[in-house]
Amino acid sequence: MSDQYDIIVGGAGIAGSLAAAAAAKGGAKVLLIDRNPEEIVGRKTNWGWVCGDAVAKSHIDMIQSKLDISFGKPELDHKVDGVYAISPDLKRKFLFEGEGYSLDRPKLAKKLLALAEKHGAQYQPGYAIDGPLLDGVNVAGVFGRDSNQKPFEIRSKLVIDALGVSSMLRRKLPVNDFVEREVSLHDIESTGRYICDFEQEGENLAYYDPDNALIHLNQHLAPGGYGWVFPRDKHRLNIGLGVEKASLDIRNQKLSKQDTLHTLIDQYVKWNPLIKNITICEEDNNGKGYWSVPVRRQMDSLVYNNYLGAGDSMAMPNPISAGGIGPAMVAGFLAGEAAAEAISENNTSLESLWRYNIRYNQEYGSKTAGLEVFRIYLQSMNNDLINYGMNKFITEEEAIQMSYGRVPELTVASTFQKLLSGVQNINAFKNLMVVVKKMKKLNEMYSRYPASPKEFMPWRNEVVAEIADAKERFKPNPV
Ligand SMILES: Cc1cc2nc3c(=O)[nH]c(=O)nc-3n(C[C@H](O)[C@H](O)[C@H](O)COP(=O)(O)OP(=O)(O)OC[C@H]3O[C@@H](n4cnc5c(N)ncnc54)[C@H](O)[C@@H]3O)c2cc1C
Repeated sequence: MSDQYDIIVGGAGIAGSLAAAAAAKGGAKVLLIDRNPEEIVGRKTNWGWVCGDAVAKSHIDMIQSKLDISFGKPELDHKVDGVYAISPDLKRKFLFEGEGYSLDRPKLAKKLLALAEKHGAQYQPGYAIDGPLLDGVNVAGVFGRDSNQKPFEIRSKLVIDALGVSSMLRRKLPVNDFVEREVSLHDIESTGRYICDFEQEGENLAYYDPDNALIHLNQHLAPGGYGWVFPRDKHRLNIGLGVEKASLDIRNQKLSKQDTLHTLIDQYVKWNPLIKNITICEEDNNGKGYWSVPVRRQMDSLVYNNYLGAGDSMAMPNPISAGGIGPAMVAGFLAGEAAAEAISENNTSLESLWRYNIRYNQEYGSKTAGLEVFRIYLQSMNNDLINYGMNKFITEEEAIQMSYGRVPELTVASTFQKLLSGVQNINAFKNLMVVVKKMKKLNEMYSRYPASPKEFMPWRNEVVAEIADAKERFKPNPV
């Protein structure tokens, strides 16, 4: 290993390998560091590559068009026509996302590492990063321990943080006005899933659909989150759920239960009448796993002095769906590209890196604050309200628009208003109107994302105040 790199990328997951590939393609000298040995590259935790593994086709297409790669079998394991969100009573379903794939994550990670290496990035496996090296308030490299616990320090002009949700780089940045160091527990979903083969008993597309990914909204089964049944090839499934801690605690208390994420997943599998005799898939030691997903808007700034972040380290998963693969792909590419440009201009200051904030917001990020408010609202609804709302409040077209972060006029819905019955339902509808207004306001704020760091603080204060107000109005209320 050389002792001078232009860019160190921490974490060879989706965001990190793509950032390394794009930065090396842009001409920078790149070192990609991960604690994993090469055979298990991209593994998030000892539990495996824990994920639902569903990604929209548009994100795969974007990477294929930007970097010299084409995806297919085996990493794209199974094609789906769409993702459906299903009401708790199973009577209503809304198309939530279009075409996509179920991935084989271990295979995808290997392919992305090979891409980074092909473009000239150097991979350093077996190195655990403990934090950023600092020159005063500027990031100047990384430090950590190798697989024999021997300390290392490596310097670079820039560091890209792709260490995932519990990033040691982000958490050990100096206190600063730009990148928050911690993610609130209320903005985290505890999630888990099985990859398993199964025997199918009967047919019912509300429980299992080989051509579509299904999301079950149900505050009893998955308080503050949802359950999913994502088809893989040949009667294999990725089945799991996510919960929000406060919602789980309230649900347990009100129903006098002591469920945990683990017991809830087992109950969810049993609840599904079509799925019988599951066999956990032991391939790659990746059959059962549990991990966290951040479900807030991405960090208000993704850059600091000589530092950029991409993927879960920056809380990029979609606040409604918890889908983080797509954003990690978009951000990994954009971060690597912007980093290489900054290196070639010999200016890695916060001001120079700001272009990445602007580009990420244009490409994906501008809708997520609105979606965060929608998520907070959904978590305040019990099953009856969700059933009622999915039937009466919005049309399928409006629901699709909202899930993409676009804000519908709700003209059709407002005509329903006079037909609504029940105080709770009417209040929930009024709240939806508040949410729609807030989503509009936040989308407008993001359309004027600060052009430079100088204008950042007043803008950020406005955003934070809007989100705080939503959290104050809509408290978790699962049952
Ligand atoms: C149960 C579950 C289900 C999900 N389902 C979906 C889904 O269906 N679709 C979807 O789009 N998203 C889903 N997500 C989210 C998605 O998995 C993540 O958004 C995505 O993996 C983020 O990629 P990343 O590259 O940012 O981080 P990660 O995949 O977490 O990669 C981080 C990398 O950093 C390495 N690393 C971490 N710490 C250190 C350290 N200190 N030193 C060195 N290396 C380190 C890790 O080894 C790993 O290789 C799900 C998440 C979970 C937990």
